[in-house]
Amino acid sequence: MKKVVKFGGSSLADAEHFAKVGEIIKSDPDRVYVIPSAPGKRSSGDTKVTDMLYELNELAESGKDITVALARIKSRYDDIIKGLSVDLDLTEEFDRIGNDVKNGAGRDYAASRGEYLNGRVMAAYLGIEFIDAATVIRFDENGEFDAEATDRLMSKKLEDTPRAVIPGFYGSLQDGSIKTFSRGGSDITGAIVARGAHADVYENWTDVSGFLVADPRIIERPKKIETITYLELRELAYMGASVLHEDSIFPVRKEGIPINIRNTNDPDDEGTWIVESTAKKSRYTITGIAGKKGFCSVSIAKDMMNSEVGFVRKVLQAFEDQNISIEHVPSGIDTMTVFVHEDEFISKEQAVVSGIYRLAKPDVLEIESGLALIAVVGRGMKSTRGTAGRIFSALAHARINVRMIDQGSSELNVIIGVDDNDFEKAITAIYDIFVETQL
Ligand code: ASP
Repeated sequence: MKKVVKFGGSSLADAEHFAKVGEIIKSDPDRVYVIPSAPGKRSSGDTKVTDMLYELNELAESGKDITVALARIKSRYDDIIKGLSVDLDLTEEFDRIGNDVKNGAGRDYAASRGEYLNGRVMAAYLGIEFIDAATVIRFDENGEFDAEATDRLMSKKLEDTPRAVIPGFYGSLQDGSIKTFSRGGSDITGAIVARGAHADVYENWTDVSGFLVADPRIIERPKKIETITYLELRELAYMGASVLHEDSIFPVRKEGIPINIRNTNDPDDEGTWIVESTAKKSRYTITGIAGKKGFCSVSIAKDMMNSEVGFVRKVLQAFEDQNISIEHVPSGIDTMTVFVHEDEFISKEQAVVSGIYRLAKPDVLEIESGLALIAVVGRGMKSTRGTAGRIFSALAHARINVRMIDQGSSELNVIIGVDDNDFEKAITAIYDIFVETQL
């Protein structure tokens, strides 16, 4: 068995957390490749090292002295090194980083040093080899991640290195300059290493015990999802539920490697398994619920619309012309409604309206704002009778007016539109009926 383990910043914020991580790694000899993030917040008012590094770079770019800011970052690492009694001195590294940043090495370089240094500390602490991510993760000349070049470099290096620490979040362009992924990108590094290592599992360790059935800011102590498929995850993540960087799915999914989300503070909890496909049924008919506020609807009616070939295309063209992406398009015989994101739509609203009148000549056009969309997702829905009935009777009992219904053609999800004001109440009603009462 070969496992790739990635630890998030909150799991590596100080020596105490670092030691817990060390225990987790040592307790299982299959955990052979370790991907650390930069040290995160030690308490709610604290600052992540990555943010400190961005500030450091801004100071340098505006010609200010960086001595104090750099020393503050160094002390975060020195505290960890001292707390773990590791024999490591980062003075030279910090001198080099200070010079590079002053000489304009750039924002990505500065930010990447958080992971780079944490990788150095982790490798010294575990007594295993360190692989600089810049040597194995490649971006192309347009700054896009180069999956094929990376996989070649990575697989080759890992073949020769049976155990190693590889820092998350960054790689390099062909000319050697450093480039980072977007924020939270150490998740992607973990997935890339798992692919290159042909790992059996990618363990992603964080500070929660996996993916939850609903948002804990709405539902108090929601149940955990034990197993979720990539497709279900995509539906929920799109609606705002997230524990993982979205781009971390592709490399492992391609190789059929499952992801296991685990909690550093509760290592015995099995966490959540994210898999391509499974025979395991969800504990509840639904796998998860997620939603977002802030949508608008544009409803159009036109007599005999149904028989006018190309009508839908003309309406959608008006949105495309303004570069607005469309969420859902439920339709009737002589009506159709287009759901869009409010913040994308509002500034271009009148251009869209005139476009629709010009292209499609509707009889009536009506815009509404303040709508929320809720996705009820579950692979179990396809084979369970009455799921839709349960959703809508729960909403009716909670006195919620349903403004839109859309069932994805895969029968993996039902999307429900409600007023923004009913959003939390609707999620609670759906959660209760499927999870609490399990009617
Ligand atoms: N340290 C980086 C960030 O704060 C990357 C990561 O943690 O995944 O976004």
